[in-house]
Amino acid sequence: MRPVIITANWKMNTTPADAGPLAADIAKATDVANVTRIICPPYTNIAAVSAAVEGTGVLVGAQNVHAEAKGAYTGEISASMLKGLVPWCIVGHSERRRDQFESDELVGQKVVQLVEAGISPMMCCGEQLEEREAGAALATVQAQVKASLETVLAAGNGLPSDLVIAYEPVWAIGTGKTATGADAAEMANAIRATVADLAGAEYAESVPILYGGSVTADSFGEFIAEPSIDGALIGGAGLKPDQMTVIAAIAAEAAAARAAA
Ligand code: PEP
Repeated sequence: MRPVIITANWKMNTTPADAGPLAADIAKATDVANVTRIICPPYTNIAAVSAAVEGTGVLVGAQNVHAEAKGAYTGEISASMLKGLVPWCIVGHSERRRDQFESDELVGQKVVQLVEAGISPMMCCGEQLEEREAGAALATVQAQVKASLETVLAAGNGLPSDLVIAYEPVWAIGTGKTATGADAAEMANAIRATVADLAGAEYAESVPILYGGSVTADSFGEFIAEPSIDGALIGGAGLKPDQMTVIAAIAAEAAAARAAA
């Protein structure tokens, strides 16, 4: 059975001084059973958040990693630098695809680096509004996932057993708009079909797929009610303990219902 996962992506918010207390508040507010809880602070606040959540069960993730192992990349962070600091790392977030022009293949190379460092990859994908309006959402996202995972496969070690895919329609991120639960579920099924083509149905069924895009306490229930959706990647609401309390409670109910089914 796939885990239920809620991940807070703090983006470029919080400071070393306020990240720890906020993480401690969120850890306390989300203390539920059978839900994997992950907080992804900025790099500079990983130490403070890790200290604050120690013993709470909350896991810490980075928001990005470089695609190369080391070298002349001023200001960048490699997977080996994150090793031992975080068990998780987001790659391919649409804000990086937009601002740093990250390609699907580069995202795949980042996954390869994370696997080598023993860090679990949370790989994002998602279509633009024009692509959805043109009826090309499924094909667009399937092509993204295929290109990234083919890059991972080309490294020769198969696909990682701890891969998580986050489906985040770009038009829903930070906009207050969300996909419908049914559309997100249709996309999750399409993503799993692509993964199955590359690595078999059994593996595809084992990969958790999260929805992301303006998830709040009010909207999360619609997504986790879909059997193909295993949780959420949460931006704005991930900075708010009161929002995370409700999201975690709904996630725990879903995890219990799935375990009982
Ligand atoms: C995100 O950061 O991945 C995200 C989905 O942000 P928001 O929830 O604010 O839309």
